[in-house]
Amino acid sequence: MSLSDLTRSAVELAIAEYDQIGPERFLEKYGFGKARKYFLVVGDREYHSKAIAGAAHGYIPGQPMPLRSIDFSGGENTVAHVLGNLGFVVRSTEAKPRNPTWSRDELILALDFYMENPASPPGKTSSKIAKLSEELNKLAAILGVSGDGQFRNPNGVYMKVMNFRRFDPAFAAVGNSGLSHGGRQEELVWNEFSQSSGRLHAVASAIRAAIVAGTLSEAQTELGYMAEAEEGRLLTVLHQRRERNRKLVEARKQKALDETNELRCEACDLSFGDRYGPHGDGFIEVHHVRPLHTLREGDKTALSDLALVCANCHRMIHRRQPWLSVKQVRALVNEMATAARPQLRSV
Ligand SMILES: [Zn+2]
Ligand SMILES: [Zn+2]
Repeated sequence: MSLSDLTRSAVELAIAEYDQIGPERFLEKYGFGKARKYFLVVGDREYHSKAIAGAAHGYIPGQPMPLRSIDFSGGENTVAHVLGNLGFVVRSTEAKPRNPTWSRDELILALDFYMENPASPPGKTSSKIAKLSEELNKLAAILGVSGDGQFRNPNGVYMKVMNFRRFDPAFAAVGNSGLSHGGRQEELVWNEFSQSSGRLHAVASAIRAAIVAGTLSEAQTELGYMAEAEEGRLLTVLHQRRERNRKLVEARKQKALDETNELRCEACDLSFGDRYGPHGDGFIEVHHVRPLHTLREGDKTALSDLALVCANCHRMIHRRQPWLSVKQVRALVNEMATAARPQLRSV
């Protein structure tokens, strides 16, 4: 006699009986209390999961004994697990998943807001906080991030903005350590941007402009091998999209072919034609070299903004934060090549 004998059809029969006689009589008949944590969900109806499981046991052919409450060795979560394995939907009333932690994009916008008036940022009921809250919700929609009804509401947004105070020497000096402990990302963003207000404002403006333009869809926001740039996810996505623009890539390649009659990586000199023969001819990737925050929706990309790079070097550029420049990758490649030939140097 155990829960593991339960079958889907037995559970369905118990559900049918529950529907027929109603929850109160059902619980009374089988001797169960109300569920506290887990509810079996069918369509728009919910059932006390443990009672259903107990009753269902009596519907198993050849085993016509319902389980009583005391027959359950495991708790409600065991029942939920068994029902889940039978393909049923079980809803837990346990604490709902918290809203996602603040992304870099969001923290950049919040810090930009804070820096405008650190001594006295607009209050939680101000229209400015309301506007920031709205922007963050739009951003989340673009990036496919979802939360509950409280997601980035004015109150939470204000708290987050004020969190920056604990990093602010102007306030730490008077013993004000801010409202609460936040994530490491908050500190990183503070360290990277608080000392360069020009860059912070430029990046924040670029993010806001991209939110307003709203030309991205959730389907286009996969980063693949690209690490998110210091400037946040949204601008990273826009960068990637520019690099994948077929027309631009073809035009840049044609320019190189016209000028040099070949396609070579600007970081390591690899030519796919040289390495792979005719199969590699005409292949190369492009990397967009301009700082992310200088790119605006609708801006024309100049061919001079695109560097030719092989697939390997391109991945190394984007591998982690901060991204490397083509020059930096070239330096790495040269360094390694030199280190690999010590005997040649000594000749
Ligand atoms: Zn290369
Ligand atoms: Zn790139």
